[in-house]
Amino acid sequence: MNATLAPADQAAPADTTSGEPSTSLRYDQVVFEEAPCPLCGATEPGEPILVGKDMVWRKEGQFPLVHCGQCGLVYQSPRPTPQTMRYYYEDCYSGQAQEDMRRFQLESGLSRLMSLYRMATVEKVRKFSPGDRVLDVGASYGGFIDYVRKERQIKAHAIDLDPGSIEKFVNKEDIDVICGDLLEVGYPDDHFDVVTIFETLEHVYEPVQTLEEIRRILKPGGLVSIEVPSWDSLLRPFFGRAWLPLLLPTHLQHFSRKHLAQCATKAGLEVAHHQAMFYPMELTVSLWMALAQLLGHVEDEDKGIGRKLLEMVLGILFIVVFVLVDVPLLFVLRLFGRSGHQTLVARNPG
Ligand SMILES: [Zn+2]
Repeated sequence: MNATLAPADQAAPADTTSGEPSTSLRYDQVVFEEAPCPLCGATEPGEPILVGKDMVWRKEGQFPLVHCGQCGLVYQSPRPTPQTMRYYYEDCYSGQAQEDMRRFQLESGLSRLMSLYRMATVEKVRKFSPGDRVLDVGASYGGFIDYVRKERQIKAHAIDLDPGSIEKFVNKEDIDVICGDLLEVGYPDDHFDVVTIFETLEHVYEPVQTLEEIRRILKPGGLVSIEVPSWDSLLRPFFGRAWLPLLLPTHLQHFSRKHLAQCATKAGLEVAHHQAMFYPMELTVSLWMALAQLLGHVEDEDKGIGRKLLEMVLGILFIVVFVLVDVPLLFVLRLFGRSGHQTLVARNPG
């Protein structure tokens, strides 16, 4: 895994360089750097698109997105350096609240549903077979890899930068778990039948090199399944800075379908299947974030009765929107390739 490969909506690095616990950073210690285009390497400054904020955890900072003049990829520049990005992960992607949420996902069946969907997407190209060696990169709490292990009797491997997240949820006798960086671990050549990397590639500083490493460790003919947000989302222009998959500043690049396919091809992989993904909540949470921006944030202890009542009514309204609008709308958007997430399955040609 890249030194800065921070598994997305799944887990967080304790330290962006070694995986070792480290002291907390403050905002005034965060260093920003101009970034070359993560896809084509162009170093001339891209054309500005928007300047965003951390809309979810409300940490300090302004984060410009630019459009590469050569290849067209949208990426963040300037961006926090790999050494100081962990300020934005601390207490956000790990910690008790995240652990409780993952436990809820596992116990409610949501994790199982998502794993089934992800497994079915890979199996549009090739069925998992008993004994297959499968690696999940950015495995987080291990929900997916443990599900496939049980369903298909594969040999399960998982890697994540976050020390401890997966170990709390899976049996290490069942899954070979490594806490570390994919690019540093050095798995053997031609080793895995399938590698999965979900909601992670948008966080890494070197996406092409990450996929090249995955190609190296895949057997000839082996598959990688990559899931990332999609810049092609039809909803994105309506929400601007409040578009949920923007997740600044931890999402460093924003792949359109074309750019994700280019990234895989540049790493020497062959695209076998590419689909828009059904991934609900894009509309509901984006609406929530847009409204929160309008209303302004108030700490719980400072909320009056009026504010509490308003939030309760909005909460009910958002559940209705989620069920009656968000879910059906995403079915339609997915049909037209315009939902907010995408999955690409690619093959190592050998
Ligand atoms: Zn570029």
